[in-house]
Amino acid sequence: MLEFGIRIPRYWRGKPFRYRLEGFRCEECGEFHFSPRLVCRKCGGKRLRRDKLSERGRLICYTVVKSASPSFEAYTPYIVGLIQTEDGTMIVGQLTDCDPEELHEGMDVEATIRRLQTDGESRLIAYGYKFRPAIQRP
Ligand SMILES: [Zn+2]
Repeated sequence: MLEFGIRIPRYWRGKPFRYRLEGFRCEECGEFHFSPRLVCRKCGGKRLRRDKLSERGRLICYTVVKSASPSFEAYTPYIVGLIQTEDGTMIVGQLTDCDPEELHEGMDVEATIRRLQTDGESRLIAYGYKFRPAIQRP
């Protein structure tokens, strides 16, 4: 049994999303979906195309997680924030490379690739995006 429940085939299938913030955008209303869909959940449109979110955005709010599910217990405390990307999509993600005291609502953040967790049995290290205070200017 995998300690953290990482399923390798599922992990690989999810790489475009975790590494590139990739998903599917409705061509009717612009709604962004992280997982493949046949129908837009917002407008019912059926034309969805693969798209990539902007890697830059604004921190809307955040919280420090001190008590987590078993798969993330070893990583507490950690910061989770609600980010609005430059294209207006709202996304929840971990914040890294900062202390909570450095954060404030409305600050610029950018996506970066970091280790998310390590599977106990397979030792598979799962990487994915997190957000950090913006340091790169376009
Ligand atoms: Zn739509």
